[in-house]
Amino acid sequence: MITMAKSAGRLGTESAFEVLARAQALAAQGQDIINLGIGQPDFRTPAHIVEAGIKALRDGHHGYTPANGLPVLRQAVSADLHRRHGVEVNPDNVVVVPGGKPTMFFALLLLGEPGVEIMYPNPGFPIYESVINFSGATPVPIALREEAGFAFSADEVLSQITPATRLIIINSPANPTGGVTPREEIDKLVAGLQRHPQVVILSDEIYSRMLYAGREHTSLLQYPEIRDRVIMLDGWSKTYAMTGWRLGYAVWPTTMIDAVTRLCINDHSCVNAPTQFAGVAALEGPQDAVHEMVAQFNRRRRIIVDRLNALPGFRCADAAGAFYAFPQIGATGLRAREAQDKFLHEAGVATIAGTSFGHWGEGYLRFSYANSIENIEAALDRIKAVL
Ligand code: PLP
Repeated sequence: MITMAKSAGRLGTESAFEVLARAQALAAQGQDIINLGIGQPDFRTPAHIVEAGIKALRDGHHGYTPANGLPVLRQAVSADLHRRHGVEVNPDNVVVVPGGKPTMFFALLLLGEPGVEIMYPNPGFPIYESVINFSGATPVPIALREEAGFAFSADEVLSQITPATRLIIINSPANPTGGVTPREEIDKLVAGLQRHPQVVILSDEIYSRMLYAGREHTSLLQYPEIRDRVIMLDGWSKTYAMTGWRLGYAVWPTTMIDAVTRLCINDHSCVNAPTQFAGVAALEGPQDAVHEMVAQFNRRRRIIVDRLNALPGFRCADAAGAFYAFPQIGATGLRAREAQDKFLHEAGVATIAGTSFGHWGEGYLRFSYANSIENIEAALDRIKAVL
């Protein structure tokens, strides 16, 4: 009989992967499944990025790289942050990792422990709550509400800080709601944090390029007064349709760089070299493909929000970021999980129950519109027929 560490039992999961597996199993049995569950762009990685990866392999870049990432890539990240957010970032503060997720995990390994409180968005990306629990820290949800456009309230966040609070996780544009927190709210949070110098902020900005309806991104790096305690997470997965390459980075406070680099050495040594060269090509090459993807997402967004609002018992907010719609479905009489299962089995449409993103997600369903307009239309026709 194997005895695993207690912490293993505290790990949560990301249901999108489970729903994907169920949808694939149904498809393998011959069912016609439209997947609006998984959050990954349906576009191919732009060709010049793929070529840069292939060239790196052909040029013999087969070996280990520095644990924190190739200098050329960290410099490209720094230049990109200057172009996009108008901030100066020392490439030595950039740590390249295999995807967006490792930064969350490492932040929690370094900051989470029993007796510590960590705040996180709810509904939010499920890995936040999972890794807080894994670390033994106490998760303190930040409720995100539809009436506020799923933005967090700075006052509410600040009022929940106690002497035990060590980390606050925020995510804008957000998964699963598509919510974008306005700059004024972030200004207010940062001003209030001056009274709590022990609190670190992990700002997950992985959807920073996916904004619509004239919204602009606010990066937590734009506040010099808290730069010494901000971890800013971003990456290539969503922006450049590179989910399977596994490439991401964070800008870390100087005081945490050594520890996080040691975690990289202990965990994965380094990100594979060709992927890092592809990452350089992505940041330094033409951005047309990104603009085209975002324009395409915006067209789909308008269609899906309208179509969801027309379904009986559905009400869908006009999400301004990422590629998710998060309708309220309470008036259908279905609970979130019931609706997820019903639509998968009876309509052949994969969606994700709001409760997969935390307690405050009850009554909601997440639809990813990273799928063709044709499939989105067909999926909503099928759900309408089932309803
Ligand atoms: N952060 C958020 C908010 C996400 O939604 C995701 C992926 O869905 C990630 C991070 C992780 O991205 P990656 O696939 O690069 O690990």
